[in-house]
Amino acid sequence: MRLPLYNKLSHDCITINQLERAILLPQESTMERYSVITDKTPREILLLRGSGCRWRRCRFCDYHLDFSTDERANFALNSRELQKVTGQYGRLEVINSGSFTDLDAQTLGALEGVCREKGIHTLHVECHWMHRAAIPPFKARFAAQGVTVKVKIGVETFDPLFRESYLDKGIDADARQIAQYCDEVCLLQGLPGQSPASMQADIETGLRWFERVCVNIMQKNTKPIQPDPQVIQAFCRQVLPLYQHDPRVDILLSNTDFGVGGACDAQ
Ligand code: SF4
Repeated sequence: MRLPLYNKLSHDCITINQLERAILLPQESTMERYSVITDKTPREILLLRGSGCRWRRCRFCDYHLDFSTDERANFALNSRELQKVTGQYGRLEVINSGSFTDLDAQTLGALEGVCREKGIHTLHVECHWMHRAAIPPFKARFAAQGVTVKVKIGVETFDPLFRESYLDKGIDADARQIAQYCDEVCLLQGLPGQSPASMQADIETGLRWFERVCVNIMQKNTKPIQPDPQVIQAFCRQVLPLYQHDPRVDILLSNTDFGVGGACDAQ
């Protein structure tokens, strides 16, 4: 049965496939960077390209490989993608395998213009904890245009020992503190050491403190941490049925349902 999930690399969310693709396709390639999500919170989604994640230490992630230090090339690519936005839902999610702070100034200016011209009322972006000070001024900048910014952060788990000693996520804060900056949270599940109880507890914590939760099921990539098939099986049997239809929970089991990133041959 095909589950009604999204599929992205949640990077801080986006997900883990992107990276696989980025490895295979180090250049602009044909990666799909625009899609429309019709389930739960309908929105357009863009996978833009920035200068690269500044953290890059997460032991499960290699999708930060989708980056370039050539700002002009990034802007050229991002401009083409931004032109695809129609504003059909008034809601746009922009991801870039890192944080919004990695996007160049021209791209951000073009993004502002697209929001204004296409009637975008809500913009979703991603951010690592290390850039939290940049969130309030970014929100204020777009609020001045009538756009509400929702910031998503990849916490992966609210167990600080697991998260920092095993995943090396770089977050020295609890859910309450994180929620002072961020509106939405990504969780990474299907990892060795997780259980149905721990995964459910993380989702419940996410729902308590944040507006939305995005659960990304770990997928194999080039990094040391690998998915645990038994944990994933347990998730599908015991956790997924609890949240599958929750409008505040996105669950990404595979890496193609979200419509961006995706398989190499689709790019
Ligand atoms: S913060 Fe971690 S998960 Fe996000 S892009 Fe950087 S290394 Fe990957």
